[in-house]
Amino acid sequence: MTSRGSDNAVRLEFRCQDVGVACKQITQAETADDLVKAVAAHTRAEHGVELNATLIDYALTKVRPTGG
Ligand SMILES: [Zn+2]
Repeated sequence: MTSRGSDNAVRLEFRCQDVGVACKQITQAETADDLVKAVAAHTRAEHGVELNATLIDYALTKVRPTGG
């Protein structure tokens, strides 16, 4: 079943694979801001990468809506 209409919360996801990382992690959040924070925590913990502004900008180009 798909939910449409009254649900204003846009859920977003980011896949490490989309930026060429061999990682199956799919990070999801309701806002881009929350997603950036979650992705930053993941990349730091799992990839030893600290996101800077350039990496965040690049990652945001790969963000997609969930369930599309
Ligand atoms: Zn990853």
